[in-house]
Amino acid sequence: MIPVVDGHNDALLRVWRSGGSLRERSEEGQLDLPRMREGGIAAGFFAIFVPATDERRDPSALMRRTADGYDVPLDAPLPADRGERIAAELAAIFARDLTPVLTVSDLERCLAGEEVGAILHLEGAEPIAPDLGNLESWRARGLRSLGLVWSRPNAFGCGVPFRYPGSNDEGPGLTDAGRALVRACNQLGVMLDLSHLTAAGFADVARLSDAPLVATHAGAHALTPIPRNLSDAQLDAVRDSGGLVGAFFDRTMTHPRAETEADTPLDVLLDHIEHLAEHMGVAHVALGSDYDGCRPIAAVGDASRVQTVLEGLAARGWPDDDLRALGHGNWLRVLRDTWH
Ligand SMILES: [Zn+2]
Repeated sequence: MIPVVDGHNDALLRVWRSGGSLRERSEEGQLDLPRMREGGIAAGFFAIFVPATDERRDPSALMRRTADGYDVPLDAPLPADRGERIAAELAAIFARDLTPVLTVSDLERCLAGEEVGAILHLEGAEPIAPDLGNLESWRARGLRSLGLVWSRPNAFGCGVPFRYPGSNDEGPGLTDAGRALVRACNQLGVMLDLSHLTAAGFADVARLSDAPLVATHAGAHALTPIPRNLSDAQLDAVRDSGGLVGAFFDRTMTHPRAETEADTPLDVLLDHIEHLAEHMGVAHVALGSDYDGCRPIAAVGDASRVQTVLEGLAARGWPDDDLRALGHGNWLRVLRDTWH
């Protein structure tokens, strides 16, 4: 089994909503520590994501049909006090259930099989004060990765909507606070995640950041033309920076027409991975499942089944060295270049 570093999951949000512990194998959801062990996931990025409401909403209820697809309007900004308050509750679950990965040596211990590790990630920077006054305390609490936005505006920038067809080339770039946050994360060695960012925001980070460019969970716009997927020009920028893209397993966002079908085959995910690899080189592709934050393709329906991706690529002729780079080697390189 090739050990995998997984670029994104929302398991903390699931446990925050439903209770239980990530230490026990659950019948609910898609990812917990026992299922990570079964699937050979040595470590994963665990997102702190602050939803607009405490109860789960059905995104399809917000969906509008359009002439050739669909559109879900952008979420409103979070109320001012909600980000930090809810984030602290999710961070408490992280501290209770998980073994933090703080350094590259921690990650190497996980890859050697000593333990299953967790990288603390913010999905959307709303818990960070606009004057960055609490950023250092978040880093001291273990924060090693920060996504500037989710699909809504915040003090730092703006995310992209769910839409088909559509591109991320709409909406504003980073604010002054967003630009300051990029520089501060570079200085503190906190990885920046470009997922869900507008093209203008992506370009701002590409211009300002001195770290490799990373999208922890995304796909290829050339195959599924939705705003959450990266254009070939954006992939060029990731490659030129030495960064990577973690391919997500969502059945809709990898489907050629972005339709939600129960029987979306594994091949559509393998096609995305191969497009990323052909366009950027294997050194710039990794996995970013989005377990517990998406509806994955059934063949990789939970964390215990992640090796199915590597087996599928092996069947397409990928050599072992490339599978190891995709599984964990590329993450090791990027995090070595980013954390300090
Ligand atoms: Zn996401």
